[in-house]
Amino acid sequence: MSVTGAYRSLAGVEGLEVTRDASLAPCTAYRIGGPADLLVCAHGYRALAHALRALADEGVPWVVLGRGSSILASDEGYRGCVVRLGQEFSRTLVEGDRMTAGAAVMLPQLVNESLSRELAGLESCVGIPGTVGGAVSTNAGSRHDWVGRRVRDVVTLRPGRGMSRYAGSEIEWGYRWCSLPPDEIILEVTLELTRSSKDVVATEMNRRLARRRAAQPMRRLCCGPVFRDPGERSAGALLDACDLKGMRVGGAHVCETHANLIVNEGHATARDVVTVMGRMHDAVQARFGVDLVPEVKFLGFEG
Ligand SMILES: Cc1cc2nc3c(=O)[nH]c(=O)nc-3n(C[C@H](O)[C@H](O)[C@H](O)COP(=O)(O)OP(=O)(O)OC[C@H]3O[C@@H](n4cnc5c(N)ncnc54)[C@H](O)[C@@H]3O)c2cc1C
Repeated sequence: MSVTGAYRSLAGVEGLEVTRDASLAPCTAYRIGGPADLLVCAHGYRALAHALRALADEGVPWVVLGRGSSILASDEGYRGCVVRLGQEFSRTLVEGDRMTAGAAVMLPQLVNESLSRELAGLESCVGIPGTVGGAVSTNAGSRHDWVGRRVRDVVTLRPGRGMSRYAGSEIEWGYRWCSLPPDEIILEVTLELTRSSKDVVATEMNRRLARRRAAQPMRRLCCGPVFRDPGERSAGALLDACDLKGMRVGGAHVCETHANLIVNEGHATARDVVTVMGRMHDAVQARFGVDLVPEVKFLGFEG
Protein backbone atom coordinates (compact mmCIF):
# COMPACT_ATOMS: atom_id res chain seq x y z
CA MET A 1 0.00 0.00 0.00
CA SER A 2 1.25 3.48 -0.78
CA VAL A 3 -0.32 6.20 1.32
CA THR A 4 2.14 8.69 -0.17
CA GLY A 5 1.09 7.71 -3.70
CA ALA A 6 -2.59 8.12 -2.79
CA TYR A 7 -1.92 11.46 -1.14
CA ARG A 8 -0.09 12.71 -4.26
CA SER A 9 -3.01 11.65 -6.49
CA LEU A 10 -5.60 13.30 -4.27
CA ALA A 11 -4.00 16.49 -2.96
CA GLY A 12 -5.17 19.53 -4.92
CA VAL A 13 -8.06 17.73 -6.68
CA GLU A 14 -11.11 19.98 -6.94
CA GLY A 15 -13.84 18.95 -4.51
CA LEU A 16 -11.52 17.05 -2.18
CA GLU A 17 -10.03 18.05 1.15
CA VAL A 18 -7.16 15.72 1.96
CA THR A 19 -5.24 15.52 5.23
CA ARG A 20 -2.38 13.20 6.14
CA ASP A 21 -2.05 11.79 9.66
CA ALA A 22 -5.36 13.31 10.67
CA SER A 23 -6.47 12.76 14.26
CA LEU A 24 -9.64 10.66 14.43
CA ALA A 25 -10.71 12.19 17.74
CA PRO A 26 -12.59 15.11 16.10
CA CYS A 27 -14.28 12.61 13.75
CA THR A 28 -15.95 10.62 16.53
CA ALA A 29 -18.56 11.41 19.18
CA TYR A 30 -16.24 9.98 21.85
CA ARG A 31 -13.51 12.41 20.75
CA ILE A 32 -11.09 9.50 21.01
CA GLY A 33 -8.69 8.08 18.44
CA GLY A 34 -5.17 8.25 17.04
CA PRO A 35 -4.35 9.37 13.51
CA ALA A 36 -5.73 7.99 10.25
CA ASP A 37 -3.11 7.79 7.49
CA LEU A 38 -5.44 9.86 5.32
CA LEU A 39 -8.67 11.75 5.84
CA VAL A 40 -10.57 12.70 2.70
CA CYS A 41 -13.69 14.84 2.62
CA ALA A 42 -15.37 14.59 -0.79
CA HIS A 43 -17.67 17.46 -1.69
CA GLY A 44 -19.07 15.93 -4.87
CA TYR A 45 -19.74 12.67 -6.69
CA ARG A 46 -16.92 12.98 -9.25
CA ALA A 47 -14.37 13.86 -6.58
CA LEU A 48 -15.54 10.93 -4.45
CA ALA A 49 -15.33 8.45 -7.35
CA HIS A 50 -11.85 9.79 -8.19
CA ALA A 51 -10.72 9.37 -4.58
CA LEU A 52 -11.93 5.76 -4.40
CA ARG A 53 -10.16 4.94 -7.69
CA ALA A 54 -6.89 6.42 -6.45
CA LEU A 55 -7.17 4.57 -3.12
CA ALA A 56 -7.81 1.29 -4.97
CA ASP A 57 -4.88 1.91 -7.33
CA GLU A 58 -2.56 2.48 -4.39
CA GLY A 59 -4.00 -0.40 -2.35
CA VAL A 60 -5.05 1.88 0.52
CA PRO A 61 -8.01 0.52 2.54
CA TRP A 62 -10.76 2.98 3.35
CA VAL A 63 -13.82 3.36 5.51
CA VAL A 64 -16.64 5.89 5.23
CA LEU A 65 -17.74 7.73 8.35
CA GLY A 66 -20.63 10.06 9.10
CA ARG A 67 -20.35 11.79 12.47
CA GLY A 68 -18.73 8.83 14.18
CA SER A 69 -21.53 8.55 16.73
CA SER A 70 -21.29 4.77 16.86
CA ILE A 71 -17.51 4.51 16.43
CA LEU A 72 -14.66 3.72 18.83
CA ALA A 73 -11.38 4.57 17.08
CA SER A 74 -8.22 2.95 18.41
CA ASP A 75 -5.49 4.92 20.17
CA GLU A 76 -3.14 3.82 17.37
CA GLY A 77 -5.47 5.26 14.73
CA TYR A 78 -6.37 3.68 11.38
CA ARG A 79 -3.94 2.44 8.73
CA GLY A 80 -5.92 3.58 5.74
CA CYS A 81 -8.15 6.41 4.62
CA VAL A 82 -11.26 7.73 6.36
CA VAL A 83 -13.71 9.11 3.82
CA ARG A 84 -16.33 11.69 4.72
CA LEU A 85 -18.96 13.33 2.56
CA GLY A 86 -19.38 17.10 2.20
CA GLN A 87 -21.35 19.78 0.36
CA GLU A 88 -23.05 17.98 -2.55
CA PHE A 89 -24.31 15.36 -0.11
CA SER A 90 -25.79 17.87 2.33
CA ARG A 91 -28.97 18.83 0.47
CA THR A 92 -32.59 17.97 1.15
CA LEU A 93 -35.63 18.10 -1.11
CA VAL A 94 -39.24 17.65 -0.03
CA GLU A 95 -41.89 16.70 -2.60
CA GLY A 96 -45.29 15.91 -1.12
CA ASP A 97 -44.82 13.05 1.34
CA ARG A 98 -41.31 12.26 0.11
CA MET A 99 -38.11 13.62 1.53
CA THR A 100 -34.84 13.15 -0.31
CA ALA A 101 -31.65 13.79 1.63
CA GLY A 102 -27.96 13.56 0.86
CA ALA A 103 -26.05 11.13 3.04
CA ALA A 104 -24.22 13.95 4.85
CA VAL A 105 -27.43 15.64 6.03
CA MET A 106 -27.72 15.51 9.80
CA LEU A 107 -30.48 13.18 10.96
CA PRO A 108 -31.83 15.68 13.55
CA GLN A 109 -32.17 18.25 10.74
CA LEU A 110 -34.24 15.78 8.72
CA VAL A 111 -36.38 14.93 11.74
CA ASN A 112 -37.06 18.64 12.31
CA GLU A 113 -37.88 19.11 8.65
CA SER A 114 -40.41 16.26 8.81
CA LEU A 115 -42.06 17.96 11.80
CA SER A 116 -42.28 21.34 10.12
CA ARG A 117 -43.75 19.68 6.98
CA GLU A 118 -46.28 17.80 9.14
CA LEU A 119 -44.95 14.44 8.01
CA ALA A 120 -45.02 11.45 10.35
CA GLY A 121 -42.62 8.49 10.27
CA LEU A 122 -39.32 9.67 11.72
CA GLU A 123 -40.41 9.79 15.36
CA SER A 124 -38.25 6.78 16.26
CA CYS A 125 -35.20 8.76 15.10
CA VAL A 126 -35.80 11.78 17.28
CA GLY A 127 -32.74 12.64 19.37
CA ILE A 128 -30.42 10.26 17.50
CA PRO A 129 -27.25 12.06 16.43
CA GLY A 130 -25.37 11.43 13.19
CA THR A 131 -25.91 11.64 9.48
CA VAL A 132 -28.53 10.20 7.14
CA GLY A 133 -25.88 7.89 5.60
CA GLY A 134 -24.91 6.55 9.02
CA ALA A 135 -28.55 6.19 10.03
CA VAL A 136 -29.47 4.15 6.94
CA SER A 137 -26.32 2.05 7.11
CA THR A 138 -27.06 1.14 10.77
CA ASN A 139 -30.85 1.20 10.33
CA ALA A 140 -31.08 3.64 13.21
CA GLY A 141 -34.15 3.93 15.39
CA SER A 142 -35.62 2.14 18.34
CA ARG A 143 -35.68 -1.62 18.91
CA HIS A 144 -39.07 -2.00 17.25
CA ASP A 145 -39.18 0.84 14.73
CA TRP A 146 -36.40 2.06 12.50
CA VAL A 147 -35.57 4.32 9.60
CA GLY A 148 -35.50 1.44 7.09
CA ARG A 149 -39.28 1.20 7.31
CA ARG A 150 -39.54 4.63 5.66
CA VAL A 151 -36.89 4.18 2.96
CA ARG A 152 -38.28 4.37 -0.57
CA ASP A 153 -34.90 4.16 -2.26
CA VAL A 154 -31.20 4.52 -1.71
CA VAL A 155 -28.55 5.69 -4.18
CA THR A 156 -25.06 4.32 -3.57
CA LEU A 157 -21.65 4.50 -5.16
CA ARG A 158 -20.26 1.08 -5.96
CA PRO A 159 -16.50 1.61 -6.08
CA GLY A 160 -15.24 1.08 -9.62
CA ARG A 161 -18.78 0.46 -10.94
CA GLY A 162 -20.61 3.75 -10.61
CA MET A 163 -23.96 4.55 -9.08
CA SER A 164 -26.58 2.07 -8.03
CA ARG A 165 -30.17 2.56 -6.92
CA TYR A 166 -31.94 0.17 -4.54
CA ALA A 167 -35.64 0.22 -3.76
CA GLY A 168 -36.24 0.20 0.00
CA SER A 169 -38.27 -3.00 -0.47
CA GLU A 170 -35.25 -4.78 -2.02
CA ILE A 171 -33.18 -4.13 1.07
CA GLU A 172 -33.52 -6.32 4.16
CA TRP A 173 -33.82 -4.27 7.35
CA GLY A 174 -33.17 -5.62 10.83
CA TYR A 175 -32.22 -4.43 14.29
CA ARG A 176 -29.29 -2.02 13.69
CA TRP A 177 -28.54 -3.72 10.38
CA CYS A 178 -29.40 -3.58 6.68
CA SER A 179 -28.39 -5.71 3.72
CA LEU A 180 -26.78 -2.93 1.64
CA PRO A 181 -23.34 -4.12 0.50
CA PRO A 182 -20.74 -2.91 3.04
CA ASP A 183 -18.34 -1.74 0.29
CA GLU A 184 -20.85 0.74 -1.17
CA ILE A 185 -21.17 4.36 -0.10
CA ILE A 186 -24.67 5.69 0.48
CA LEU A 187 -25.01 8.99 -1.39
CA GLU A 188 -28.69 9.82 -1.14
CA VAL A 189 -31.85 8.45 0.45
CA THR A 190 -35.53 9.06 -0.31
CA LEU A 191 -37.99 8.51 2.51
CA GLU A 192 -41.71 7.97 2.11
CA LEU A 193 -43.48 9.58 5.05
CA THR A 194 -47.14 9.96 6.01
CA ARG A 195 -49.11 13.18 6.01
CA SER A 196 -50.15 14.07 9.54
CA SER A 197 -50.52 17.21 11.64
CA LYS A 198 -47.89 19.18 13.47
CA ASP A 199 -49.58 18.56 16.81
CA VAL A 200 -49.67 14.78 16.38
CA VAL A 201 -46.05 14.54 15.19
CA ALA A 202 -44.80 17.00 17.83
CA THR A 203 -46.58 15.17 20.66
CA GLU A 204 -44.98 11.85 19.75
CA MET A 205 -41.55 13.41 19.20
CA ASN A 206 -41.68 15.27 22.52
CA ARG A 207 -42.70 12.11 24.34
CA ARG A 208 -39.74 10.19 22.94
CA LEU A 209 -37.36 13.10 23.43
CA ALA A 210 -38.32 13.45 27.09
CA ARG A 211 -37.59 9.75 27.69
CA ARG A 212 -34.27 10.05 25.90
CA ARG A 213 -33.27 13.19 27.81
CA ALA A 214 -34.01 11.53 31.13
CA ALA A 215 -31.68 8.64 30.32
CA GLN A 216 -28.99 9.97 28.01
CA PRO A 217 -26.18 12.27 29.00
CA MET A 218 -26.58 15.57 27.19
CA ARG A 219 -23.53 17.44 26.00
CA ARG A 220 -21.20 14.69 27.22
CA LEU A 221 -18.63 12.88 25.11
CA CYS A 222 -20.23 9.57 24.41
CA CYS A 223 -21.16 7.34 21.51
CA GLY A 224 -24.31 5.31 21.12
CA PRO A 225 -25.27 2.15 23.04
CA VAL A 226 -22.20 0.01 23.67
CA PHE A 227 -23.84 -3.44 23.45
CA ARG A 228 -26.67 -4.80 21.32
CA ASP A 229 -29.86 -5.82 23.06
CA PRO A 230 -29.59 -9.62 23.35
CA GLY A 231 -33.33 -10.29 23.54
CA GLU A 232 -36.48 -8.89 25.06
CA ARG A 233 -34.51 -7.79 28.14
CA SER A 234 -32.31 -4.94 26.92
CA ALA A 235 -28.55 -4.79 27.38
CA GLY A 236 -29.15 -1.65 29.46
CA ALA A 237 -31.48 -3.52 31.85
CA LEU A 238 -29.01 -6.41 32.27
CA LEU A 239 -26.13 -4.00 32.90
CA ASP A 240 -28.25 -1.97 35.28
CA ALA A 241 -28.98 -5.07 37.32
CA CYS A 242 -25.21 -5.59 37.65
CA ASP A 243 -24.95 -2.23 39.35
CA LEU A 244 -22.28 -0.88 37.02
CA LYS A 245 -23.32 2.76 36.66
CA GLY A 246 -20.42 5.04 37.50
CA MET A 247 -17.80 2.26 37.17
CA ARG A 248 -14.62 3.98 36.01
CA VAL A 249 -11.37 3.07 34.25
CA GLY A 250 -8.95 5.91 33.50
CA GLY A 251 -10.99 8.67 31.88
CA ALA A 252 -14.00 6.53 30.94
CA HIS A 253 -17.01 5.56 33.05
CA VAL A 254 -20.37 3.87 32.69
CA CYS A 255 -22.96 6.63 32.38
CA GLU A 256 -24.84 7.26 35.65
CA THR A 257 -28.22 7.51 33.91
CA HIS A 258 -27.88 4.78 31.25
CA ALA A 259 -25.93 1.60 31.99
CA ASN A 260 -25.34 0.84 28.27
CA LEU A 261 -23.47 4.09 27.55
CA ILE A 262 -19.86 4.95 28.33
CA VAL A 263 -18.83 8.56 28.87
CA ASN A 264 -15.41 10.01 28.05
CA GLU A 265 -14.60 12.43 30.86
CA GLY A 266 -12.31 14.30 28.48
CA HIS A 267 -9.08 12.35 28.72
CA ALA A 268 -10.23 8.77 28.11
CA THR A 269 -8.28 6.55 25.77
CA ALA A 270 -9.78 3.84 23.56
CA ARG A 271 -8.04 1.35 25.84
CA ASP A 272 -9.97 2.77 28.84
CA VAL A 273 -13.25 2.34 26.95
CA VAL A 274 -12.38 -1.22 25.89
CA THR A 275 -11.47 -2.11 29.49
CA VAL A 276 -14.79 -0.72 30.77
CA MET A 277 -16.58 -2.69 28.05
CA GLY A 278 -14.76 -5.87 29.08
CA ARG A 279 -15.87 -5.45 32.69
CA MET A 280 -19.45 -4.75 31.62
CA HIS A 281 -19.46 -7.82 29.40
CA ASP A 282 -17.99 -10.08 32.08
CA ALA A 283 -20.39 -8.87 34.78
CA VAL A 284 -23.41 -9.72 32.60
CA GLN A 285 -21.88 -13.04 31.56
CA ALA A 286 -21.24 -14.00 35.20
CA ARG A 287 -24.66 -12.94 36.48
CA PHE A 288 -26.96 -13.91 33.60
CA GLY A 289 -24.86 -16.19 31.36
CA VAL A 290 -25.49 -13.74 28.48
CA ASP A 291 -22.67 -13.05 26.03
CA LEU A 292 -23.23 -9.39 25.13
CA VAL A 293 -22.16 -8.41 21.61
CA PRO A 294 -20.78 -4.91 20.96
CA GLU A 295 -22.95 -2.47 19.05
CA VAL A 296 -20.19 0.14 18.98
CA LYS A 297 -18.11 -0.21 15.81
CA PHE A 298 -14.37 -0.58 16.24
CA LEU A 299 -12.05 1.29 13.90
CA GLY A 300 -8.33 0.56 13.65
CA PHE A 301 -8.23 -2.36 16.09
CA GLU A 302 -7.42 -4.99 13.45
CA GLY A 303 -4.16 -6.90 13.69
C1 LIG B 1 -26.10 9.70 22.73
C2 LIG B 1 -26.33 8.77 21.58
C3 LIG B 1 -27.52 8.08 21.49
C4 LIG B 1 -27.77 7.20 20.42
N1 LIG B 1 -28.97 6.56 20.35
C5 LIG B 1 -29.22 5.75 19.31
C6 LIG B 1 -30.51 5.10 19.18
O1 LIG B 1 -31.39 5.27 20.00
N2 LIG B 1 -30.72 4.33 18.10
C7 LIG B 1 -29.77 4.12 17.15
O2 LIG B 1 -30.03 3.41 16.19
N3 LIG B 1 -28.54 4.70 17.25
C8 LIG B 1 -28.25 5.50 18.30
N4 LIG B 1 -27.03 6.09 18.41
C9 LIG B 1 -25.95 5.70 17.49
C10 LIG B 1 -25.76 6.60 16.27
O3 LIG B 1 -26.22 7.90 16.55
C11 LIG B 1 -26.47 6.08 15.04
O4 LIG B 1 -26.01 4.78 14.74
C12 LIG B 1 -26.24 7.01 13.85
O5 LIG B 1 -27.20 6.74 12.90
C13 LIG B 1 -24.85 6.88 13.26
O6 LIG B 1 -24.67 7.95 12.33
P1 LIG B 1 -23.23 8.54 12.05
O7 LIG B 1 -23.35 9.51 10.93
O8 LIG B 1 -22.62 9.06 13.29
O9 LIG B 1 -22.47 7.25 11.53
P2 LIG B 1 -21.02 6.65 11.96
O10 LIG B 1 -21.09 6.38 13.42
O11 LIG B 1 -20.01 7.62 11.48
O12 LIG B 1 -20.99 5.36 11.12
C14 LIG B 1 -21.83 4.29 11.45
C15 LIG B 1 -21.72 3.22 10.38
O13 LIG B 1 -22.32 3.71 9.19
C16 LIG B 1 -21.39 3.65 8.12
N5 LIG B 1 -21.64 4.81 7.27
C17 LIG B 1 -21.65 6.13 7.65
N6 LIG B 1 -21.94 6.91 6.58
C18 LIG B 1 -22.11 6.07 5.52
C19 LIG B 1 -22.40 6.25 4.14
N7 LIG B 1 -22.58 7.46 3.60
N8 LIG B 1 -22.48 5.16 3.36
C20 LIG B 1 -22.30 3.91 3.86
N9 LIG B 1 -22.02 3.66 5.15
C21 LIG B 1 -21.92 4.73 5.97
C22 LIG B 1 -20.02 3.67 8.78
O14 LIG B 1 -19.04 3.07 7.95
C23 LIG B 1 -20.28 2.86 10.03
O15 LIG B 1 -20.23 1.48 9.73
C24 LIG B 1 -26.77 6.99 19.45
C25 LIG B 1 -25.57 7.71 19.53
C26 LIG B 1 -25.35 8.58 20.58
C27 LIG B 1 -24.06 9.36 20.64
